[in-house]
Amino acid sequence: MRYQRVGDIVIVRKNLTEEEIKKIVEKTKCKSIVKYVTISGEFRTQYVKLLYGEETETIHKEHGCLFKLDVSKIMWSQGNIKERERMAFISNKRETVIDMFAGIGYFTIPMAKHSKPFIYAIEKNPVAYKYLCENIKLNKLKNVAPILSDNREVKLGKVADRIVMGYVHKTHKFLDKAFSFLKDRGIIHYHETVPEKILEKRPIERVKFYAEKYGYKIIDYKIHKIKKYAPGVWHVVLDVHLER
Ligand code: SAM
Repeated sequence: MRYQRVGDIVIVRKNLTEEEIKKIVEKTKCKSIVKYVTISGEFRTQYVKLLYGEETETIHKEHGCLFKLDVSKIMWSQGNIKERERMAFISNKRETVIDMFAGIGYFTIPMAKHSKPFIYAIEKNPVAYKYLCENIKLNKLKNVAPILSDNREVKLGKVADRIVMGYVHKTHKFLDKAFSFLKDRGIIHYHETVPEKILEKRPIERVKFYAEKYGYKIIDYKIHKIKKYAPGVWHVVLDVHLER
């Protein structure tokens, strides 16, 4: 049977018999089992049904980091594991980074811990923000400034060497704001869900449109496939180096 472990909680995709629940509990020693129902809305809220146990809050360990979250309110994407690892080691001590969609710190926590830049982590959902703050403390990080706000309301000026845009719903609508944060030279990690046929074209064309609008040139770019999102649709991230 396929299931996902988040800390000491197991997430399954279908209803289980008593026998199946017993087997999973014996095998994993989990404290709860939940059935994934859906993820929806701008906060990417996760809805689940409790099949076993009572608690839905847990601490997940990954890449030497701790992530506290409540699986009944907050998503955890197993498919993004490689990207969380890539982001962990991509920056350095000299950089200022803005994570525009920080969530509970999916990219902020591993990056702050392993690459050690200074990170402004912006999150709009108060529940995710609460866990972001807890995760900064749990991982003993001093180089993260959490900001509870819609990123479009945040005024930091052009301070960012690197910007993470880990959001997949109309992410291009946030590129105006991203360019307002970007130094004259910098990198944007731009996420999008895109049909396979236009995977090589649409993300870069969208970023190029805004780059030109703000007088930046694209020095270099690379597209990475993160995961299959839906039939014929990929979640991708575009790393774009920009200069003006
Ligand atoms: N990148 C994550 C991962 O690796 O699993 C997944 C996306 S994360 C859940 C996206 C976050 O962006 C959510 O927590 C959501 O509340 C937040 N968000 C959405 N719109 C926002 C906005 N305008 N400003 C700040 N945060 C926003």
